[in-house]
Amino acid sequence: MINAQILVVGGGPVGMTLAALLAKRGIDVRVVEADAGYCEGSRATCVSRRSLEIMGWADAVQAMMDKSLPWSDGRSFYRDQQVLHFQMPADPTQRFAPMVNIQQYYVEEYAHKALISKASESSVLWNTRLQSLAQSDSGAIATVVAADGREQTIHADWVVACDGGKSTVREQLGLRLEGMQYDGRYVIVDIKQKTKRPTERLAWFDPPSNPGSTILMHRQPDDVWRIDYQLQDGEDPDEAIKPENVLPRVQSHLSMIGENEPWEVIWIAIYNAKCLTLPSYRTGRVFFAGDAAHLVPIFGVRGLNSGFDDAGNLAWKLALVVQGKAEDKLLDSYSTERVHATHENLRYGAKSTEFMSPPHHGFSLMRQAALRLSTVDKDVSSLINPRQSLPIEYVGSPLNLTEAAGMPAPEAILGKASTSTTHLSQCFGDAFTLLQLADLDADAIKPHPLVRVLVIKKSDALQVYERYADKGACVLIRPDGYICASWKIARQVNLDMALRSMGITMGAQDAS
Ligand SMILES: Cc1cc2nc3c(=O)[nH]c(=O)nc-3n(C[C@H](O)[C@H](O)[C@H](O)COP(=O)(O)OP(=O)(O)OC[C@H]3O[C@@H](n4cnc5c(N)ncnc54)[C@H](O)[C@@H]3O)c2cc1C
Repeated sequence: MINAQILVVGGGPVGMTLAALLAKRGIDVRVVEADAGYCEGSRATCVSRRSLEIMGWADAVQAMMDKSLPWSDGRSFYRDQQVLHFQMPADPTQRFAPMVNIQQYYVEEYAHKALISKASESSVLWNTRLQSLAQSDSGAIATVVAADGREQTIHADWVVACDGGKSTVREQLGLRLEGMQYDGRYVIVDIKQKTKRPTERLAWFDPPSNPGSTILMHRQPDDVWRIDYQLQDGEDPDEAIKPENVLPRVQSHLSMIGENEPWEVIWIAIYNAKCLTLPSYRTGRVFFAGDAAHLVPIFGVRGLNSGFDDAGNLAWKLALVVQGKAEDKLLDSYSTERVHATHENLRYGAKSTEFMSPPHHGFSLMRQAALRLSTVDKDVSSLINPRQSLPIEYVGSPLNLTEAAGMPAPEAILGKASTSTTHLSQCFGDAFTLLQLADLDADAIKPHPLVRVLVIKKSDALQVYERYADKGACVLIRPDGYICASWKIARQVNLDMALRSMGITMGAQDAS
Protein backbone atom coordinates (compact mmCIF):
# COMPACT_ATOMS: atom_id res chain seq x y z
CA MET A 1 0.00 0.00 0.00
CA ILE A 2 1.29 3.46 -0.93
CA ASN A 3 0.25 6.36 1.32
CA ALA A 4 0.10 9.91 0.03
CA GLN A 5 -1.41 13.16 1.23
CA ILE A 6 -2.66 13.89 -2.28
CA LEU A 7 -3.17 11.58 -5.24
CA VAL A 8 -3.34 13.29 -8.64
CA VAL A 9 -4.90 11.02 -11.26
CA GLY A 10 -3.53 11.91 -14.71
CA GLY A 11 -0.16 13.42 -15.54
CA GLY A 12 -1.26 15.67 -18.42
CA PRO A 13 -0.39 19.39 -18.31
CA VAL A 14 -2.94 20.17 -15.59
CA GLY A 15 -2.08 17.21 -13.32
CA MET A 16 1.68 17.81 -13.62
CA THR A 17 1.38 21.55 -12.96
CA LEU A 18 -0.89 21.02 -9.97
CA ALA A 19 1.48 18.38 -8.56
CA ALA A 20 4.47 20.72 -9.02
CA LEU A 21 2.62 23.55 -7.23
CA LEU A 22 1.74 21.23 -4.33
CA ALA A 23 5.23 19.71 -4.10
CA LYS A 24 6.70 23.21 -3.97
CA ARG A 25 4.63 23.76 -0.81
CA GLY A 26 6.09 20.61 0.72
CA ILE A 27 3.03 18.40 0.14
CA ASP A 28 3.55 14.68 -0.40
CA VAL A 29 1.89 14.25 -3.80
CA ARG A 30 1.67 11.16 -5.99
CA VAL A 31 0.72 11.24 -9.70
CA VAL A 32 -0.53 8.19 -11.60
CA GLU A 33 -0.28 8.47 -15.37
CA ALA A 34 -1.66 5.80 -17.70
CA ASP A 35 0.81 6.56 -20.50
CA ALA A 36 4.54 5.85 -20.54
CA GLY A 37 5.48 9.49 -21.18
CA TYR A 38 4.33 12.91 -22.38
CA CYS A 39 1.45 13.22 -24.86
CA GLU A 40 2.01 12.85 -28.58
CA GLY A 41 0.82 14.90 -31.51
CA SER A 42 -1.09 18.12 -31.68
CA ARG A 43 -3.21 19.29 -28.79
CA ALA A 44 -3.19 22.67 -27.02
CA THR A 45 -0.92 25.22 -28.71
CA CYS A 46 -1.55 28.69 -27.28
CA VAL A 47 -0.59 29.38 -23.67
CA SER A 48 -1.80 32.65 -22.16
CA ARG A 49 0.11 35.14 -20.02
CA ARG A 50 -1.93 34.10 -16.99
CA SER A 51 -0.96 30.43 -17.54
CA LEU A 52 2.69 31.46 -17.78
CA GLU A 53 2.38 33.21 -14.42
CA ILE A 54 0.99 29.99 -12.90
CA MET A 55 3.82 27.96 -14.44
CA GLY A 56 6.15 30.54 -12.92
CA TRP A 57 4.81 29.74 -9.43
CA ALA A 58 5.68 26.10 -10.14
CA ASP A 59 9.20 27.13 -11.33
CA ALA A 60 8.50 25.83 -14.84
CA VAL A 61 8.34 29.08 -16.76
CA GLN A 62 11.96 29.66 -17.81
CA ALA A 63 11.97 26.54 -19.98
CA MET A 64 8.65 27.69 -21.48
CA MET A 65 10.08 31.09 -22.31
CA ASP A 66 13.22 29.59 -23.84
CA LYS A 67 11.24 27.30 -26.15
CA SER A 68 7.93 29.00 -26.98
CA LEU A 69 7.10 31.62 -29.64
CA PRO A 70 5.53 34.81 -28.23
CA TRP A 71 2.79 36.66 -30.14
CA SER A 72 0.25 39.41 -29.75
CA ASP A 73 -1.19 40.00 -33.24
CA GLY A 74 -3.75 38.23 -35.37
CA ARG A 75 -5.04 38.58 -38.92
CA SER A 76 -8.26 37.39 -40.52
CA PHE A 77 -8.90 37.15 -44.24
CA TYR A 78 -12.19 36.84 -46.11
CA ARG A 79 -11.50 35.14 -49.44
CA ASP A 80 -8.23 36.86 -50.48
CA GLN A 81 -8.71 40.11 -48.58
CA GLN A 82 -7.43 40.95 -45.09
CA VAL A 83 -10.44 42.10 -43.04
CA LEU A 84 -9.02 42.24 -39.54
CA HIS A 85 -5.68 42.94 -37.88
CA PHE A 86 -6.01 42.75 -34.10
CA GLN A 87 -3.34 43.43 -31.51
CA MET A 88 -3.75 42.21 -27.97
CA PRO A 89 -2.63 44.86 -25.46
CA ALA A 90 1.11 44.24 -25.08
CA ASP A 91 2.43 46.66 -22.46
CA PRO A 92 6.25 46.47 -22.78
CA THR A 93 6.58 46.48 -18.99
CA GLN A 94 4.66 43.17 -18.77
CA ARG A 95 6.69 40.12 -17.85
CA PHE A 96 5.25 37.91 -20.61
CA ALA A 97 3.70 38.34 -24.05
CA PRO A 98 -0.11 38.02 -24.07
CA MET A 99 0.25 34.58 -25.64
CA VAL A 100 2.95 32.07 -26.57
CA ASN A 101 2.76 29.07 -28.90
CA ILE A 102 4.23 25.77 -27.82
CA GLN A 103 3.42 22.09 -28.25
CA GLN A 104 1.56 20.52 -25.32
CA TYR A 105 4.20 17.81 -24.81
CA TYR A 106 6.75 20.48 -23.93
CA VAL A 107 4.36 21.97 -21.35
CA GLU A 108 3.99 18.53 -19.75
CA GLU A 109 7.76 17.98 -19.78
CA TYR A 110 8.57 21.31 -18.11
CA ALA A 111 5.88 20.87 -15.45
CA HIS A 112 7.11 17.33 -14.77
CA LYS A 113 10.73 18.52 -14.45
CA ALA A 114 9.58 21.21 -12.01
CA LEU A 115 7.76 18.53 -9.99
CA ILE A 116 10.70 16.16 -9.73
CA SER A 117 13.04 19.00 -8.82
CA LYS A 118 10.97 19.29 -5.61
CA ALA A 119 9.76 15.75 -4.99
CA SER A 120 11.36 12.38 -5.66
CA GLU A 121 11.33 10.88 -9.16
CA SER A 122 8.94 8.20 -7.88
CA SER A 123 6.22 10.79 -7.34
CA VAL A 124 4.99 9.96 -10.86
CA LEU A 125 3.91 6.37 -11.48
CA TRP A 126 4.11 6.17 -15.27
CA ASN A 127 2.37 3.43 -17.23
CA THR A 128 -0.07 3.12 -14.35
CA ARG A 129 -3.83 3.45 -14.76
CA LEU A 130 -6.36 4.18 -12.06
CA GLN A 131 -8.84 1.34 -12.12
CA SER A 132 -11.13 1.94 -9.16
CA LEU A 133 -11.67 4.53 -6.46
CA ALA A 134 -13.62 4.38 -3.21
CA GLN A 135 -14.05 7.27 -0.76
CA SER A 136 -14.34 7.32 3.00
CA ASP A 137 -14.70 10.26 5.43
CA SER A 138 -10.94 10.42 5.90
CA GLY A 139 -9.69 9.84 2.38
CA ALA A 140 -9.86 7.57 -0.63
CA ILE A 141 -8.52 4.19 -1.65
CA ALA A 142 -7.41 3.87 -5.26
CA THR A 143 -6.55 0.69 -7.08
CA VAL A 144 -4.04 1.26 -9.86
CA VAL A 145 -2.73 -1.19 -12.43
CA ALA A 146 0.66 -0.98 -14.13
CA ALA A 147 1.16 -1.91 -17.79
CA ASP A 148 2.61 -5.30 -16.73
CA GLY A 149 -0.63 -6.08 -14.84
CA ARG A 150 0.78 -5.42 -11.34
CA GLU A 151 -1.90 -4.01 -9.05
CA GLN A 152 -1.22 -1.54 -6.22
CA THR A 153 -3.37 0.23 -3.67
CA ILE A 154 -2.89 3.91 -2.87
CA HIS A 155 -4.41 5.49 0.22
CA ALA A 156 -4.67 9.26 -0.16
CA ASP A 157 -6.18 11.91 2.09
CA TRP A 158 -7.36 13.81 -1.00
CA VAL A 159 -7.66 12.99 -4.70
CA VAL A 160 -7.59 15.35 -7.67
CA ALA A 161 -8.95 13.98 -10.94
CA CYS A 162 -6.88 15.41 -13.80
CA ASP A 163 -7.51 12.41 -16.01
CA GLY A 164 -8.89 14.25 -19.01
CA GLY A 165 -12.07 14.20 -21.06
CA LYS A 166 -12.75 10.50 -20.54
CA SER A 167 -12.06 10.64 -16.78
CA THR A 168 -12.12 7.28 -15.00
CA VAL A 169 -12.56 9.08 -11.67
CA ARG A 170 -15.73 10.73 -12.96
CA GLU A 171 -17.01 7.35 -14.08
CA GLN A 172 -16.08 5.70 -10.76
CA LEU A 173 -18.08 8.31 -8.84
CA GLY A 174 -21.04 8.01 -11.22
CA LEU A 175 -20.79 11.65 -12.37
CA ARG A 176 -21.62 12.97 -15.83
CA LEU A 177 -20.63 16.08 -17.76
CA GLU A 178 -23.58 18.30 -18.67
CA GLY A 179 -24.00 20.51 -21.74
CA MET A 180 -23.89 20.12 -25.49
CA GLN A 181 -21.55 19.47 -28.38
CA TYR A 182 -21.40 20.90 -31.88
CA ASP A 183 -21.61 18.75 -35.02
CA GLY A 184 -19.11 20.79 -37.07
CA ARG A 185 -15.72 19.14 -37.38
CA TYR A 186 -12.21 20.49 -37.84
CA VAL A 187 -9.26 18.56 -39.21
CA ILE A 188 -6.09 19.30 -37.21
CA VAL A 189 -2.84 18.91 -39.14
CA ASP A 190 0.70 19.53 -37.93
CA ILE A 191 3.29 19.98 -40.63
CA LYS A 192 7.00 20.72 -40.56
CA GLN A 193 8.04 23.56 -42.83
CA LYS A 194 10.53 26.40 -42.51
CA THR A 195 9.00 29.87 -42.63
CA LYS A 196 10.06 33.47 -42.17
CA ARG A 197 6.57 34.66 -41.12
CA PRO A 198 6.15 36.28 -37.72
CA THR A 199 4.17 34.32 -35.13
CA GLU A 200 0.56 35.52 -35.33
CA ARG A 201 -2.88 33.96 -35.18
CA LEU A 202 -3.98 33.58 -38.82
CA ALA A 203 -7.52 32.79 -40.02
CA TRP A 204 -8.98 32.53 -43.52
CA PHE A 205 -12.70 32.40 -44.18
CA ASP A 206 -13.78 30.93 -47.52
CA PRO A 207 -10.24 31.16 -48.96
CA PRO A 208 -9.64 30.56 -52.70
CA SER A 209 -7.40 27.64 -51.66
CA ASN A 210 -10.31 25.80 -49.99
CA PRO A 211 -13.60 27.50 -50.96
CA GLY A 212 -16.30 27.32 -48.27
CA SER A 213 -13.87 26.27 -45.52
CA THR A 214 -12.27 28.12 -42.59
CA ILE A 215 -8.54 27.66 -41.99
CA LEU A 216 -6.54 28.56 -38.91
CA MET A 217 -2.74 28.58 -38.77
CA HIS A 218 -0.43 28.84 -35.78
CA ARG A 219 3.36 28.71 -35.89
CA GLN A 220 4.93 26.49 -33.22
CA PRO A 221 8.57 25.87 -32.23
CA ASP A 222 10.76 23.40 -34.23
CA ASP A 223 9.44 24.71 -37.61
CA VAL A 224 6.01 23.21 -37.00
CA TRP A 225 2.77 24.75 -38.31
CA ARG A 226 -0.51 23.82 -36.69
CA ILE A 227 -3.24 24.01 -39.35
CA ASP A 228 -6.94 23.56 -38.49
CA TYR A 229 -9.54 23.46 -41.26
CA GLN A 230 -13.27 23.14 -41.17
CA LEU A 231 -14.97 20.20 -42.89
CA GLN A 232 -17.97 20.95 -45.09
CA ASP A 233 -21.41 19.59 -44.17
CA GLY A 234 -21.79 16.01 -45.33
CA GLU A 235 -18.04 15.24 -45.51
CA ASP A 236 -17.18 11.82 -44.06
CA PRO A 237 -14.73 12.43 -41.14
CA ASP A 238 -12.98 9.05 -41.59
CA GLU A 239 -12.29 9.82 -45.25
CA ALA A 240 -11.38 13.42 -44.48
CA ILE A 241 -8.39 12.53 -42.30
CA LYS A 242 -6.80 10.15 -44.82
CA PRO A 243 -3.48 11.66 -45.95
CA GLU A 244 -4.51 11.49 -49.60
CA ASN A 245 -7.39 13.88 -48.77
CA VAL A 246 -5.51 16.11 -46.32
CA LEU A 247 -2.27 16.73 -48.25
CA PRO A 248 -3.81 18.38 -51.36
CA ARG A 249 -5.83 20.79 -49.19
CA VAL A 250 -2.76 21.77 -47.19
CA GLN A 251 -0.64 22.14 -50.34
CA SER A 252 -3.26 24.31 -51.99
CA HIS A 253 -3.34 26.59 -48.97
CA LEU A 254 0.44 26.82 -48.58
CA SER A 255 0.74 27.70 -52.28
CA MET A 256 -1.94 30.38 -51.91
CA ILE A 257 -0.08 32.12 -49.10
CA GLY A 258 3.32 31.74 -50.75
CA GLU A 259 4.90 29.25 -48.33
CA ASN A 260 7.03 27.28 -50.81
CA GLU A 261 9.61 25.49 -48.65
CA PRO A 262 9.40 21.65 -48.66
CA TRP A 263 7.08 20.28 -45.97
CA GLU A 264 5.99 17.02 -44.37
CA VAL A 265 2.97 16.01 -42.33
CA ILE A 266 3.67 14.96 -38.76
CA TRP A 267 0.17 14.59 -37.28
CA ILE A 268 -3.46 14.44 -38.39
CA ALA A 269 -6.48 14.39 -36.05
CA ILE A 270 -10.12 15.45 -36.02
CA TYR A 271 -11.91 17.68 -33.52
CA ASN A 272 -15.44 18.81 -32.72
CA ALA A 273 -16.24 21.50 -30.16
CA LYS A 274 -17.92 20.56 -26.89
CA CYS A 275 -19.42 22.76 -24.16
CA LEU A 276 -19.57 20.40 -21.20
CA THR A 277 -19.01 20.71 -17.45
CA LEU A 278 -19.64 18.92 -14.19
CA PRO A 279 -22.09 20.88 -12.03
CA SER A 280 -19.62 20.75 -9.10
CA TYR A 281 -15.85 20.20 -9.03
CA ARG A 282 -15.86 18.67 -5.55
CA THR A 283 -17.34 15.37 -4.38
CA GLY A 284 -16.28 14.71 -0.79
CA ARG A 285 -12.50 14.29 -0.83
CA VAL A 286 -12.24 14.26 -4.61
CA PHE A 287 -11.74 17.36 -6.79
CA PHE A 288 -11.91 17.68 -10.57
CA ALA A 289 -9.62 19.89 -12.67
CA GLY A 290 -8.88 20.47 -16.36
CA ASP A 291 -10.65 18.39 -19.00
CA ALA A 292 -11.89 15.95 -16.33
CA ALA A 293 -14.04 18.82 -15.00
CA HIS A 294 -14.96 20.64 -18.23
CA LEU A 295 -14.58 20.48 -21.99
CA VAL A 296 -14.38 23.95 -23.53
CA PRO A 297 -14.21 24.67 -27.30
CA ILE A 298 -10.66 25.22 -28.52
CA PHE A 299 -11.66 28.43 -30.38
CA GLY A 300 -10.51 31.24 -28.08
CA VAL A 301 -7.88 28.93 -26.54
CA ARG A 302 -9.60 28.36 -23.21
CA GLY A 303 -9.12 24.56 -23.04
CA LEU A 304 -5.72 24.12 -21.48
CA ASN A 305 -5.59 27.70 -20.20
CA SER A 306 -8.68 27.18 -18.04
CA GLY A 307 -7.10 23.97 -16.70
CA PHE A 308 -4.06 25.97 -15.55
CA ASP A 309 -6.40 28.32 -13.71
CA ASP A 310 -8.01 25.32 -11.99
CA ALA A 311 -4.56 24.21 -10.82
CA GLY A 312 -3.60 27.71 -9.65
CA ASN A 313 -6.87 28.07 -7.74
CA LEU A 314 -6.84 24.65 -6.07
CA ALA A 315 -3.14 24.27 -5.16
CA TRP A 316 -2.91 26.90 -2.40
CA LYS A 317 -6.28 26.02 -0.86
CA LEU A 318 -5.57 22.30 -0.74
CA ALA A 319 -2.04 22.85 0.59
CA LEU A 320 -3.30 25.07 3.45
CA VAL A 321 -5.99 22.55 4.43
CA VAL A 322 -3.61 19.56 4.23
CA GLN A 323 -1.11 21.43 6.41
CA GLY A 324 -3.81 22.23 8.98
CA LYS A 325 -3.57 25.97 8.36
CA ALA A 326 -7.11 26.40 7.01
CA GLU A 327 -10.54 24.88 7.47
CA ASP A 328 -12.18 22.56 4.98
CA LYS A 329 -14.68 25.28 3.96
CA LEU A 330 -11.92 27.05 2.02
CA LEU A 331 -11.98 24.12 -0.41
CA ASP A 332 -15.64 24.61 -1.34
CA SER A 333 -14.75 27.96 -2.87
CA TYR A 334 -12.67 26.09 -5.48
CA SER A 335 -15.78 24.61 -7.02
CA THR A 336 -17.88 27.78 -6.72
CA GLU A 337 -15.22 29.90 -8.43
CA ARG A 338 -14.10 27.52 -11.10
CA VAL A 339 -17.62 26.38 -12.10
CA HIS A 340 -18.47 30.07 -12.53
CA ALA A 341 -15.30 30.52 -14.64
CA THR A 342 -16.25 27.53 -16.80
CA HIS A 343 -19.70 28.98 -17.50
CA GLU A 344 -18.03 32.21 -18.64
CA ASN A 345 -15.49 30.29 -20.75
CA LEU A 346 -18.29 28.23 -22.30
CA ARG A 347 -20.23 31.40 -23.12
CA TYR A 348 -17.22 32.90 -24.95
CA GLY A 349 -16.23 29.55 -26.42
CA ALA A 350 -19.74 28.95 -27.80
CA LYS A 351 -19.76 32.40 -29.49
CA SER A 352 -16.39 31.73 -31.10
CA THR A 353 -17.45 28.23 -32.19
CA GLU A 354 -20.69 29.52 -33.72
CA PHE A 355 -18.58 31.86 -35.85
CA MET A 356 -15.78 29.41 -36.68
CA SER A 357 -18.08 26.46 -37.30
CA PRO A 358 -21.68 27.72 -37.79
CA PRO A 359 -24.04 25.11 -36.31
CA HIS A 360 -26.87 25.82 -38.79
CA HIS A 361 -27.85 27.82 -41.84
CA GLY A 362 -28.92 30.91 -39.83
CA PHE A 363 -25.46 31.23 -38.28
CA SER A 364 -23.82 30.68 -41.69
CA LEU A 365 -25.84 33.53 -43.17
CA MET A 366 -24.94 35.84 -40.28
CA ARG A 367 -21.28 34.95 -40.57
CA GLN A 368 -21.29 35.56 -44.32
CA ALA A 369 -22.97 38.93 -43.83
CA ALA A 370 -20.42 39.95 -41.14
CA LEU A 371 -17.51 38.86 -43.33
CA ARG A 372 -18.85 40.66 -46.44
CA LEU A 373 -19.47 43.85 -44.50
CA SER A 374 -16.03 43.67 -42.87
CA THR A 375 -14.43 44.17 -46.31
CA VAL A 376 -15.92 47.65 -46.52
CA ASP A 377 -16.56 48.66 -42.90
CA LYS A 378 -13.72 48.42 -40.37
CA ASP A 379 -16.14 48.67 -37.42
CA VAL A 380 -17.77 45.40 -38.44
CA SER A 381 -14.46 43.56 -38.29
CA SER A 382 -14.57 43.79 -34.48
CA LEU A 383 -17.45 41.29 -34.73
CA ILE A 384 -15.07 38.70 -36.14
CA ASN A 385 -12.37 39.29 -33.55
CA PRO A 386 -11.85 36.01 -31.68
CA ARG A 387 -12.07 36.37 -27.91
CA GLN A 388 -8.76 35.14 -26.53
CA SER A 389 -8.45 33.54 -23.11
CA LEU A 390 -8.31 35.96 -20.15
CA PRO A 391 -8.56 35.30 -16.40
CA ILE A 392 -12.21 35.33 -15.31
CA GLU A 393 -13.44 37.56 -12.49
CA TYR A 394 -14.81 35.49 -9.59
CA VAL A 395 -18.16 37.23 -9.28
CA GLY A 396 -20.10 36.04 -6.23
CA SER A 397 -17.22 34.13 -4.61
CA PRO A 398 -17.47 33.54 -0.86
CA LEU A 399 -13.83 34.74 -0.71
CA ASN A 400 -14.73 38.23 -1.97
CA LEU A 401 -14.66 40.22 1.24
CA THR A 402 -15.01 43.81 0.08
CA GLU A 403 -16.27 45.61 -2.99
CA ALA A 404 -13.28 45.55 -5.36
CA ALA A 405 -12.71 41.85 -4.66
CA GLY A 406 -12.90 38.97 -7.13
CA MET A 407 -10.87 40.57 -9.92
CA PRO A 408 -7.45 39.35 -11.07
CA ALA A 409 -4.79 41.58 -9.52
CA PRO A 410 -3.37 43.92 -12.20
CA GLU A 411 0.29 43.26 -13.02
CA ALA A 412 2.76 46.02 -12.13
CA ILE A 413 6.50 46.49 -11.87
CA LEU A 414 7.85 46.51 -8.32
CA GLY A 415 10.31 49.35 -8.28
CA LYS A 416 11.04 51.97 -10.90
CA ALA A 417 9.68 50.97 -14.34
CA SER A 418 12.89 52.16 -16.04
CA THR A 419 15.25 49.93 -14.03
CA SER A 420 13.35 47.15 -12.23
CA THR A 421 12.56 43.77 -13.80
CA THR A 422 10.65 42.38 -10.81
CA HIS A 423 6.89 42.06 -11.23
CA LEU A 424 4.15 41.85 -8.66
CA SER A 425 2.90 38.50 -10.06
CA GLN A 426 6.26 36.96 -9.05
CA CYS A 427 5.21 37.43 -5.41
CA PHE A 428 2.10 35.27 -5.88
CA GLY A 429 1.91 31.48 -5.74
CA ASP A 430 2.78 30.69 -2.15
CA ALA A 431 1.49 33.42 0.21
CA PHE A 432 -1.11 36.16 0.42
CA THR A 433 0.26 39.55 -0.60
CA LEU A 434 -0.72 42.64 1.33
CA LEU A 435 0.04 45.75 -0.68
CA GLN A 436 0.36 48.64 1.68
CA LEU A 437 0.53 51.98 -0.10
CA ALA A 438 2.65 53.82 2.38
CA ASP A 439 1.80 57.34 1.19
CA LEU A 440 -1.83 56.73 2.16
CA ASP A 441 -3.20 56.38 5.68
CA ALA A 442 -2.02 53.01 7.03
CA ASP A 443 -1.34 51.14 10.28
CA ALA A 444 1.77 49.03 10.80
CA ILE A 445 0.67 45.42 10.15
CA LYS A 446 2.12 42.61 12.30
CA PRO A 447 4.11 39.89 10.48
CA HIS A 448 1.96 36.85 9.59
CA PRO A 449 3.43 33.54 8.34
CA LEU A 450 0.99 33.38 5.40
CA VAL A 451 1.11 37.04 4.37
CA ARG A 452 3.87 38.88 2.55
CA VAL A 453 3.56 42.59 3.28
CA LEU A 454 4.80 44.89 0.53
CA VAL A 455 5.06 48.49 1.61
CA ILE A 456 4.99 50.56 -1.56
CA LYS A 457 6.00 54.20 -1.77
CA LYS A 458 4.75 56.22 -4.71
CA SER A 459 8.25 57.51 -5.44
CA ASP A 460 9.68 53.93 -5.54
CA ALA A 461 7.03 52.02 -7.51
CA LEU A 462 4.79 54.38 -9.44
CA GLN A 463 3.16 51.65 -11.53
CA VAL A 464 1.89 49.75 -8.45
CA TYR A 465 0.66 52.98 -7.01
CA GLU A 466 -1.13 53.99 -10.22
CA ARG A 467 -2.83 50.61 -10.60
CA TYR A 468 -3.86 50.12 -6.97
CA ALA A 469 -4.24 53.48 -5.21
CA ASP A 470 -7.90 53.82 -6.29
CA LYS A 471 -8.64 50.57 -4.43
CA GLY A 472 -7.45 51.86 -1.07
CA ALA A 473 -4.41 52.02 1.16
CA CYS A 474 -4.32 48.30 1.60
CA VAL A 475 -5.07 45.55 -0.93
CA LEU A 476 -5.10 41.88 0.02
CA ILE A 477 -4.23 39.54 -2.85
CA ARG A 478 -4.71 35.75 -2.65
CA PRO A 479 -1.86 33.37 -3.45
CA ASP A 480 -3.43 32.79 -6.90
CA GLY A 481 -3.29 36.48 -7.75
CA TYR A 482 -6.91 37.49 -7.12
CA ILE A 483 -7.88 40.50 -5.03
CA CYS A 484 -9.94 39.34 -2.04
CA ALA A 485 -10.20 42.57 -0.03
CA SER A 486 -9.18 46.21 -0.05
CA TRP A 487 -9.58 48.97 2.49
CA LYS A 488 -9.30 52.73 2.39
CA ILE A 489 -7.52 52.58 5.74
CA ALA A 490 -5.21 49.71 6.60
CA ARG A 491 -6.04 48.16 9.97
CA GLN A 492 -4.67 45.02 11.59
CA VAL A 493 -8.18 44.06 12.60
CA ASN A 494 -9.33 44.08 8.95
CA LEU A 495 -6.58 41.71 7.90
CA ASP A 496 -7.23 39.32 10.80
CA MET A 497 -10.95 39.23 10.09
CA ALA A 498 -10.40 38.71 6.36
CA LEU A 499 -8.16 35.70 6.90
CA ARG A 500 -10.51 34.20 9.49
CA SER A 501 -13.56 34.59 7.28
CA MET A 502 -11.82 32.72 4.46
CA GLY A 503 -11.22 29.83 6.87
CA ILE A 504 -7.52 30.50 7.55
CA THR A 505 -6.84 29.24 11.05
CA MET A 506 -3.12 30.05 11.23
CA GLY A 507 -2.62 33.39 12.94
CA ALA A 508 0.21 35.89 13.44
CA GLN A 509 0.94 34.21 16.79
CA ASP A 510 1.85 30.99 14.90
CA ALA A 511 4.90 32.60 13.27
CA SER A 512 7.93 30.46 14.09
C1 LIG B 1 -6.95 17.04 -30.95
C2 LIG B 1 -7.00 18.07 -29.85
C3 LIG B 1 -6.63 19.37 -30.11
C4 LIG B 1 -6.67 20.32 -29.10
N1 LIG B 1 -6.31 21.60 -29.39
C5 LIG B 1 -6.36 22.53 -28.41
C6 LIG B 1 -5.97 23.88 -28.65
O1 LIG B 1 -5.61 24.24 -29.76
N2 LIG B 1 -6.03 24.76 -27.62
C7 LIG B 1 -6.45 24.40 -26.35
O2 LIG B 1 -6.47 25.23 -25.43
N3 LIG B 1 -6.80 23.15 -26.10
C8 LIG B 1 -6.77 22.21 -27.09
N4 LIG B 1 -7.12 20.95 -26.82
C9 LIG B 1 -7.56 20.65 -25.47
C10 LIG B 1 -6.35 20.49 -24.55
O3 LIG B 1 -5.46 19.56 -25.12
C11 LIG B 1 -6.85 20.05 -23.19
O4 LIG B 1 -7.68 21.09 -22.67
C12 LIG B 1 -5.72 19.75 -22.22
O5 LIG B 1 -4.97 18.66 -22.67
C13 LIG B 1 -6.30 19.44 -20.83
O6 LIG B 1 -5.29 18.98 -20.00
P1 LIG B 1 -5.60 17.93 -18.86
O7 LIG B 1 -4.30 17.74 -18.15
O8 LIG B 1 -6.79 18.37 -18.11
O9 LIG B 1 -6.05 16.61 -19.61
P2 LIG B 1 -5.21 15.67 -20.60
O10 LIG B 1 -4.21 16.45 -21.37
O11 LIG B 1 -6.22 14.89 -21.38
O12 LIG B 1 -4.41 14.71 -19.63
C14 LIG B 1 -5.07 13.70 -18.94
C15 LIG B 1 -4.02 12.66 -18.58
O13 LIG B 1 -4.64 11.66 -17.78
C16 LIG B 1 -4.17 10.38 -18.18
N5 LIG B 1 -5.21 9.42 -17.80
C17 LIG B 1 -6.44 9.24 -18.34
N6 LIG B 1 -7.10 8.26 -17.70
C18 LIG B 1 -6.28 7.82 -16.72
C19 LIG B 1 -6.40 6.81 -15.71
N7 LIG B 1 -7.51 6.07 -15.57
N8 LIG B 1 -5.35 6.61 -14.88
C20 LIG B 1 -4.21 7.35 -14.98
N9 LIG B 1 -4.04 8.31 -15.93
C21 LIG B 1 -5.07 8.55 -16.78
C22 LIG B 1 -3.98 10.52 -19.68
O14 LIG B 1 -3.07 9.56 -20.17
C23 LIG B 1 -3.45 11.95 -19.80
O15 LIG B 1 -2.06 12.01 -19.76
C24 LIG B 1 -7.09 19.97 -27.81
C25 LIG B 1 -7.46 18.66 -27.55
C26 LIG B 1 -7.42 17.71 -28.54
C27 LIG B 1 -7.83 16.30 -28.23
